[in-house]
Amino acid sequence: MFTAYRRWRERRILRTQAIPEGLWRESLESLPFLAMYTDSEIARLREKVVLFLNAKSIIGARGHRVTPRQRVVIALQACVLVMNLDLMYYDGWESVVVYPDEFVPGWEWEDDAGVVHTNDERMAGEAIERGPVVLSWADVEASQDWDAAGMNLAIHEFAHKLDMRNGVANGCPPLPPEMAPHIWKRTMMAAYQHFQKRVERGERVAIDPYAAESPAEFFAVLSEVFFVEPQLLRHEYTAVYQQFARFYRQEPAARSELLRDD
Ligand SMILES: [Zn+2]
Repeated sequence: MFTAYRRWRERRILRTQAIPEGLWRESLESLPFLAMYTDSEIARLREKVVLFLNAKSIIGARGHRVTPRQRVVIALQACVLVMNLDLMYYDGWESVVVYPDEFVPGWEWEDDAGVVHTNDERMAGEAIERGPVVLSWADVEASQDWDAAGMNLAIHEFAHKLDMRNGVANGCPPLPPEMAPHIWKRTMMAAYQHFQKRVERGERVAIDPYAAESPAEFFAVLSEVFFVEPQLLRHEYTAVYQQFARFYRQEPAARSELLRDD
């Protein structure tokens, strides 16, 4: 009954809030990595984007006006992670806050001695547990050119959101029943420690060294690589790539290979 109601409601949203063709094309074109998907997958992604935009508010901060294209570009990158998963993976929070550029979060934390500190470090993005995803539009835009930026801010923050479904981000999101958590943890920990050692040694690494910061950042950064440069992840950390392929239910490396052979 509930499922039938949900489907009816979704169909109504898809009908009444469809994204105009021109806007859709323009948004897709600004994200070249999406070229690896088939037409039917892109159609499915489009539906997810409509439903995502219906469910979440995308709010401009510090005078930033969020344009229709910005809304779609942000939603596309959120939805590519859950393209083969349920959009309910993003339940439990309401909004995406968009600053024109880097922002100072201003949140406070208390140290062991009870002294309150204010975080005044500038940030490009932040995912807050049970709260919003916060993004700097300048950095979302810069991320559209992966080769130049070497990062994808939106994918990074939405990956943290998936990780936070079972509490604080720790690199272990809730897994589907067919996956074994101990294998995930063992695979991720081995790769993380290996990567950390390479970074500590000063080795030139092809993956953003920020991934060595914590297991949570490792998961978020490697998720960026999984979607945008999947062959690199498969080459560098094959076992992690295989776990991600099962978790996200996608095989991006095989696809972008086909694309390159064309
Ligand atoms: Zn992060």
